[in-house]
Amino acid sequence: MVKAIVGANWGDEGKGKITDLCAESADIVVRFQGGANAGHTIINKYGRFALHQLPSGIFHENIINIIGNGCALNVNSLTEEIASVKEAGVNFKLFISERAQVLLPHHVLLDTYEEERLGNKAFGSTKSGIAPFFSDKYSKMGLQVWELYNDELLKEKLQMMYEKVNVTLKHLYNKPEIDYMDVYATLKGYAETIKNNVADTSLILRKAIKEGKSILLEGQLGTLKDTDHGIYPYVTSSSTLAGYSAVGAGIPPYAISDILCITKAYSSAVGEGPFVSEILDEAEAEDLRRRGGDKGEYGATTGRARRVGWFDTVATRYGVELQGATEVCLTCLDVLSYLEEIPVCTGYEYEGKIYKDFLTTDKLYKSTPVIEKLKGWNCNIKGIREFDKLPAEAKAYVEFIEKELGVKISMVSNGPAREDIIYR
Ligand code: GDP
Repeated sequence: MVKAIVGANWGDEGKGKITDLCAESADIVVRFQGGANAGHTIINKYGRFALHQLPSGIFHENIINIIGNGCALNVNSLTEEIASVKEAGVNFKLFISERAQVLLPHHVLLDTYEEERLGNKAFGSTKSGIAPFFSDKYSKMGLQVWELYNDELLKEKLQMMYEKVNVTLKHLYNKPEIDYMDVYATLKGYAETIKNNVADTSLILRKAIKEGKSILLEGQLGTLKDTDHGIYPYVTSSSTLAGYSAVGAGIPPYAISDILCITKAYSSAVGEGPFVSEILDEAEAEDLRRRGGDKGEYGATTGRARRVGWFDTVATRYGVELQGATEVCLTCLDVLSYLEEIPVCTGYEYEGKIYKDFLTTDKLYKSTPVIEKLKGWNCNIKGIREFDKLPAEAKAYVEFIEKELGVKISMVSNGPAREDIIYR
């Protein structure tokens, strides 16, 4: 059984918690895209962790964790993450695809300098080097992990690469150039650090599929940040869709039998871009923001305040459909317990017409939300483990969203801890 666990929205839907939970009955957990730019928060018996690159199966000793070929491998940040998990007493198995590409020092620099250059037109990048990394990958200027172990090729390639990079650094950004031999030394350090983890992970996975093993494919961010189908250009530079998970893990697409799409009971987004259901009143937004997630809606990687809004049925139906969800998990239902009435965005008004389907970025910017108000339950629902024990208004809220999405909500999360879950 291969299940993809992916986000329906702008990311931060709670994929980490749900993957950690589903991993209890899995054999392998794979990260198939993204890099150190976004974090998955996990709270379990070992403590609270923001995992950036480590798969969320890392806390289960018998599971194989894989960083797939679709990921942007940041060795420095991975080393720190591994240390924090080891310090908590976790024993784990981790393999890194020999075809994953390695994030290089200039990627972070170019990301930072480009945001500076764009000024008030900047994308709100986390400056982790993701956009320059994927530009290099697709222009065949990147380095796959196996190349770290081929000295001659590595030096030759770095020399060529930095001839070009230095022109950009010097003439576009007016910044110091990079000596490719310094990068070579850094990369040899990386090669040493990860040498016991490097493997043909596609082969491991293909064999596991033949043996009927249970595999989870863990996505980063969500549909609305997908390069092609998201709010371009305010997107990430890799595909966040379950459709890409086969490519980013190196398995046949037909092996994926289940797509669990995660969405939150309200909306949050980071970075720039249109956000139709955003709460524009700052006091009202802060009321939701400080109650959101496990410690308020502040970025797991950057700590910056996330933009917050009401649940958006138009964006989420689009998100769920593009992911090809076979089931949905609704998280953070407990967060809305303070409200007597819960606004939900059920349509977009654009140039006098109401739209129920998602639009392109220009139109989204000019759309206003059609708001319906549902009754709140206005009491604490943490600790409830059965759907039928939820207050009638909370059940009605879940059922309303399920109907709007057209896909079964099989899990409702009502707290950040592993055990805060209701199966339906
Ligand atoms: P991810 O990137 O999709 O894994 O999501 P993040 O970790 O960035 O953000 C989700 C936040 O919500 C984290 O702070 C989680 O601890 C928290 N969280 C997940 N599920 C729930 C839930 O059901 N209720 C509450 N209150 N917080 C949750």
